[in-house]
Amino acid sequence: MMAELVAQRCHVHLNREAAARCPECRQFYCRECVTEHDDVVICTACLKSQTEISEEKKLQIRGLFRFVSGVMGFVFCWVIFIWVGQMLLAAPSEFHDADLWQRGFFDH
Ligand SMILES: [Zn+2]
Ligand SMILES: [Zn+2]
Repeated sequence: MMAELVAQRCHVHLNREAAARCPECRQFYCRECVTEHDDVVICTACLKSQTEISEEKKLQIRGLFRFVSGVMGFVFCWVIFIWVGQMLLAAPSEFHDADLWQRGFFDH
């Protein structure tokens, strides 16, 4: 492993010996070209792209959250609408049943 590293040269600085291997792009880099990020030694290019991805994900999550809260608000309004509608429908049908019962009663 160490011998392999010594034999390798930095992907950016070809005259320098590699100090670490980036787990993302599988390239060898010198100490200057790698950064420790979340306990992982990663090259600057991959770190940059990972940061960009996480920023993109954050935006996606924010968009998703906005969408879900919008849907939840819509569903909430819809449930209230159905509930109120059923209340309004239930009330006259009760009167209607009472009316029928009374008419039946008076027929006898
Ligand atoms: Zn890399
Ligand atoms: Zn380098």
